Amino acid sequence: MSIILSSNMAYNTVRQRAAKCISLLEELYGIPQAEERDPVDLLVMTILSQNTSDTNSLRAFARLKSTFSDYEQVLAATDEAVAESIRAGGLAEIKARRTKEALFRIKQDAETISLSFLADMKKEQAMAYLLSLPGVGPKTASVVLLFAFFMPFLPVDTHVYRICRRLGLVGESVALEKAQSILERVVPVDKYLSFHLNLITHGRRICRARNPRHEVCPLQDCCDYYLHGQKP
Ligand code: SF4
Repeated sequence: MSIILSSNMAYNTVRQRAAKCISLLEELYGIPQAEERDPVDLLVMTILSQNTSDTNSLRAFARLKSTFSDYEQVLAATDEAVAESIRAGGLAEIKARRTKEALFRIKQDAETISLSFLADMKKEQAMAYLLSLPGVGPKTASVVLLFAFFMPFLPVDTHVYRICRRLGLVGESVALEKAQSILERVVPVDKYLSFHLNLITHGRRICRARNPRHEVCPLQDCCDYYLHGQKP
């Protein structure tokens, strides 16, 4: 197997550690429930979330939805008008352009601004389609496919990446782009959503980038960073 595992732990050992972490996180934060989400909404929300806080990106998304009655109107509006509506999320001009380009491509391909056709595709095809949209990378595509279609992808954002390296579920030298394929082999498929959402919550509340709150963290016993002082 070519995957790089931290601390030369055997593959099954890493899977056991992941299972323990998932269980402890679910004890702490509960088991997140999947809600039905519109895939285009998810796509746009994720584009707006790039390089900003959740608070700001959610504010930008809410403003976009209240300014325009639907995505057809967003597409018909000027870049400036769209940028103005999402100003709260930062990088407004770039995100407005990316959003409109993605909506344009979807309309061109599906003849309507809907991604429901992805449900009929194999997961690899659906991923390839989303990655072909301007401004859409693996994290955004995985979020859409996991949360809107329950396809087995495990999105890796900065929180998930940081904590998984600290826990030793991926090696310290593994790049963010490689971490997803490793984690998808280590985490049980039916726990992708729980693992992703609970790690984001954990990253915000306890395992912060700076000054992680080890003293209140239930994952201490399965954390390389805590036990051995490895670098984040
Ligand atoms: S023990 Fe510390 S570094 Fe490890 S997961 Fe918890 S807060 Fe993060």
